[in-house]
Amino acid sequence: MPMMTPEQYEASLRKMNFKVYLQGELVKNTVDHPIIRPSMNSVKATYALAQDPQYADLMTATSHLTGKKINRFTHLHQSTEDLVKKVKMQRLLGQVTASCFQRCVGMDAINALDSTTFEMDKALGTDYHKRFEKFLLAMQENDWTVDGAMTDVKGDRGLPPSKQVDPDMFLHIVERRPNGIVVTGAKAHQTGCINSHRILVMPTISMGPDDKDYAVSFVVPADAEGICYIYGRQSCDTRKMEGTEIDVGNHQYGGHEALMVFDKVFVPYEDVFMCGEVEFSGMLVERFAGYHRQSYGGCKVGVGDVLIGAAALAADYNGAAKASHVKDKLIEMTHLNETLYACGISCSCEGSKTASGTYLIDLLLANVCKQNVTRMPYEIARLAEDIAGGLMVTMPSEKDLRSPAVGKIVEKYLQGVSSIPTEHRMRVLRLIENITLGTAAVGYRTESMHGAGSPQAQRIMIARQGNLGAKKELAKAIAGIPSAPKKK
Ligand code: SF4
Ligand code: FE
Repeated sequence: MPMMTPEQYEASLRKMNFKVYLQGELVKNTVDHPIIRPSMNSVKATYALAQDPQYADLMTATSHLTGKKINRFTHLHQSTEDLVKKVKMQRLLGQVTASCFQRCVGMDAINALDSTTFEMDKALGTDYHKRFEKFLLAMQENDWTVDGAMTDVKGDRGLPPSKQVDPDMFLHIVERRPNGIVVTGAKAHQTGCINSHRILVMPTISMGPDDKDYAVSFVVPADAEGICYIYGRQSCDTRKMEGTEIDVGNHQYGGHEALMVFDKVFVPYEDVFMCGEVEFSGMLVERFAGYHRQSYGGCKVGVGDVLIGAAALAADYNGAAKASHVKDKLIEMTHLNETLYACGISCSCEGSKTASGTYLIDLLLANVCKQNVTRMPYEIARLAEDIAGGLMVTMPSEKDLRSPAVGKIVEKYLQGVSSIPTEHRMRVLRLIENITLGTAAVGYRTESMHGAGSPQAQRIMIARQGNLGAKKELAKAIAGIPSAPKKK
């Protein structure tokens, strides 16, 4: 079964035995829980669109392992064209779901692990790549959603993993058995974990010689013995429990994050892809982060498209569409959004082949892409709120609109342009609220800042990749300053 239907995907989740706590209670049925279900719908869309012939070129790819047609989310990029298609696929899914569709973290993790395990084996004589390929084949054949798990909780940020007062602040090996390892720790704000079949764990930072137990990468079933999840709250999340549609803003789709806790989880060696090779932890982190920073040049742009459309509709419904400043704000939003897309596309076009054959994005441009994402969606959101007007956060609820007592009053006084039903105006304003301040703001707003690494992480990479030395030589050549002779 190289490709699951959306129905098969949902059914496969029902067979999982997740241990999830939400607001202090164990969730019996994660798939149908009103707070969780919209996030499942977003991942489900990655299966649904892959079945649709009109999206086949973006949503599917040919496996380099088997030659079979597979979902692009399980694919290793074989060319710069593949890298570009990845970004276009993410923009499409952002447009369809207006939220985080979660499945990219696993795609980015497999691409980073493929080249890293290959190069690690070559340098150290280990046999991780073979194990990794076995897992990848199973992922493609079963069309699994795999969640890449990188971010440790990190404790005292001033201390390396091995110097933390509590050793569990970074996920680590607590026991080595003849047939596998036992790990303990936690991964923070873990996107999409409860909608995933497998969790692919990676170290979170470059490690030193004392951190051997922390330089660990492996795959486990998402419902493995010893794993539990504590579901992350989102702004306005309990509106999903009210049984109404309009107030949620986007009642169909969403994203989720959770604190994922590993309590003495056993992992057989065949599923371990790094086990103490501290010198390769940096490469894995850098490549995964690079791919995920590229991803934001697609997904955030797709959600941005919805937000721009919503702002334009709000202007229409308010009767303000002809005002020149409103038109100009929509132009500015489009300019900013397309700038992000240009970054996502450019780091893909400038990608190159790694030793394993998998293509890697241009790391400098991918970091520039994400650095822009830490800023531009905020300005796009500001302009959307400006155009929408204050009503997006002060209007009465859907229950008031439906109320026999005050419904007619709400309808009368919230009317904008007379040809537009008040309900439509309320719907679009709530959608803007959802993306800028509500549940989807996790994915569009704060995640734009911190997802795939906080701004400073990109600045470190930009400093490293920017090649200031070469730029100085350019300046010297033009200014007539001789280059210092190279030291022998
Ligand atoms: Fe994919 Fe974007 Fe969500 Fe990351 S934030 S998982 S790139 S949709
Ligand atoms: Fe993310």
